[in-house]
Amino acid sequence: MQEIPKNHPRYQSLILRKKISEAHKAGVLAESGMIAHGRGEAFDYLLGEKTIPPAKRAIEVAAAQILLAQNPVISVNGNTAALSAREVIELSNKSGAKVEINLFYRTPERVDKIRRMLHNSGARKVLGTNDEDHLHLKGMEGPRSFVSAEGIYSADVVLVPLEDGDRAQALIANNKVVITIDLNPLSRTARSSSITIVDNLVRALPLLIQEVEKLKGEEQYKLEEMVRNFNNQVNLNDSLKAILGSYHADVKP
Ligand code: ATP
Ligand code: MG
Repeated sequence: MQEIPKNHPRYQSLILRKKISEAHKAGVLAESGMIAHGRGEAFDYLLGEKTIPPAKRAIEVAAAQILLAQNPVISVNGNTAALSAREVIELSNKSGAKVEINLFYRTPERVDKIRRMLHNSGARKVLGTNDEDHLHLKGMEGPRSFVSAEGIYSADVVLVPLEDGDRAQALIANNKVVITIDLNPLSRTARSSSITIVDNLVRALPLLIQEVEKLKGEEQYKLEEMVRNFNNQVNLNDSLKAILGSYHADVKP
């Protein structure tokens, strides 16, 4: 593929596109994963490709919630593996959260490719692979319902970047606390999750890692207070306001 010139005004965005299209060529990402990325790009454009203040707040609370969890799990799909495999593993190592492969279009080949990517990025243990007997998430059918007994099935807190609305809702119905990273504050996933970080995965994960490190030694009651004081609907509305321009004083209709 042609080299992207570093001085190109859309350099960062083009680098992400390149990663996504290479992952598709390598069989890591289903075609729909590329379309999902395009939808994300459009929202990122509207955010000014920056982490907005409501996302920073959600990241702090997400870090507190992960540290409070008994069995936190990070759910990894093709897009997440393609863009942020290293950060997922770093977050897992720093927070103690398990890593589970969970795909919308699950095929044994794709699962195996993602497993290898995660191991190459330093993962010691990966759940949701082909070697495991799967359980079914109540309320879901077919391969999309597969979850690991040790992982999502028994998790109390699940971080699902870029999840589909159906499954986010099924996780909530199964009494999980769901943290999502989704650029679209209007998606069903964003609306039904417990904590929604309206930001690009590639910006949000490094900040989440930093926040976990910062809050690690914090007293439990303080972390609980952070979670208690957070209202996802209010924060989502703040994110929408950011998109509509209130944080971009220079953007006039
Ligand atoms: P839902 O099923 O939750 O209603 P949807 O059907 O509109 O959402 P999906 O295709 O299921 O969307 O999921 C893709 C979602 O992932 C989109 O909301 C898109 O904005 C988001 N997304 C894509 N790329 C990224 C990224 N790099 N970081 C964060 N979010 C992203
Ligand atoms: Mg969807």
